[in-house]
Amino acid sequence: MPTNHHSILQSREERTRLRIEFAKSGKISVSLSLNIPGVPKSTDLTRKFFRTVLAELEIYLASERIFLSSDNKNQFEDTAGEFYINSIENLNIDSLKIKEITERFEENHSAGRLIDVDIFDVDSQPVSSGKAKKCMVCGKYSAVDCMRSQRHSYEELRETVFSKMEKYLAEKRKESVVKKISSLATKSILYEISLTPKPGLVDFENSGAHSDMNFLTFLDSTAVLAVHFENFAKSGYEFTKTLNQALPEIRRIGLALEKEMFRETDGVNTQKGAIFLMGLSVFAMSYAFSRNENPTLEEFRQTVREICKNLVSDELQTNQSETKTHGELCFEKYGNAGAGARFEAENAFPSVFDHALPVFRLYFPFTDKFNREKINFALRKVLLTLISVNNDSNILYRKGRETAEMLKEKARICLETESGEKYKELCEFCIRENISPGGSADLLAITIFPGNIEKIDKW
Ligand SMILES: [Zn+2]
Repeated sequence: MPTNHHSILQSREERTRLRIEFAKSGKISVSLSLNIPGVPKSTDLTRKFFRTVLAELEIYLASERIFLSSDNKNQFEDTAGEFYINSIENLNIDSLKIKEITERFEENHSAGRLIDVDIFDVDSQPVSSGKAKKCMVCGKYSAVDCMRSQRHSYEELRETVFSKMEKYLAEKRKESVVKKISSLATKSILYEISLTPKPGLVDFENSGAHSDMNFLTFLDSTAVLAVHFENFAKSGYEFTKTLNQALPEIRRIGLALEKEMFRETDGVNTQKGAIFLMGLSVFAMSYAFSRNENPTLEEFRQTVREICKNLVSDELQTNQSETKTHGELCFEKYGNAGAGARFEAENAFPSVFDHALPVFRLYFPFTDKFNREKINFALRKVLLTLISVNNDSNILYRKGRETAEMLKEKARICLETESGEKYKELCEFCIRENISPGGSADLLAITIFPGNIEKIDKW
């Protein structure tokens, strides 16, 4: 599209015409445009930036109880760039007061010098507070002064503007990804806890094989986890070292969180395993999103693999001291089958990706968000799949291979028969044997997490 000054002038005239129209109907108008030096005035970047700023401006005005009309608004793009105009519904309001509010919006905005919010009063006159805007390149003089004296080259101006917009949008995206990933992590854990009934595990109805915790203990500790997931997410997004150096960073956040969890539960271990596995997952997912607009789950897995390289041998084999931990003893006796969550992590969750996630995709309702029965049914399928393949090191350590294999077999039968009776038997078996497949429950949350991530098409 050929752009010349003539058509930019025409565009500006059209804007003036709109302002006069609003004034004629007795309304103050507010308009938004961008300060883009030179041409083209509109690019993909300016459009995205404009959309973001407009949404922020609307919220800002609403927070000051300034109400925009819902049917008079006009938004378009022409040779002069992006443009939005709307009338203000508030009657008996001083136009200068509105101007002050929008000036505050511009001043507090980190890319505020690129933004022009104009107020026109009912006589279609521009409202000015007399304050001069600083130059967007040097910030030293007023914008008008730098323009008149041609202090900066055209290239410098344009370069500054575009890099400011890019930086601003990148920061916005980080905030949004970090929040989304963290909230999906919490959601995954809440769904896992809510599945009722669960064999040997704490659920809404009872505490399974546990005597020191119940559904509410899990809600309490999940509330603590929820606020810390952002730390994993932020750290993953901002991580710039090589991934084999990430584990100490993840552990630091995890150990601090563990402390908070124990404080909340009076020393009961509700979600130590979940903290490690979900913390790792949140970090890795966020890292993948910082490197790719819309990463595949394989990129997520590759990140996990690189972070957890040699985790099993590093943590379970190197201890030469006399006293060995449960994990080390279990690994010594059963090999990889006894390496539990560490084996899953080192191999980027084979139980989840090879077994549970396909079941999640098949059964988890995509539209029926409010059908609790269907969701419960789907979650149960996924959990049973996990119990039938996962080697729970805690059960192996406490009960030995025979009981562990019996548990897996019983879960397989439940899956094959889809019988409620068999599921009840499995639950009773866990109570009788006093076992709780907590490792599989953690992996259920780890399945729901990427399962929900891949359902989002727009980040
Ligand atoms: Zn300047």
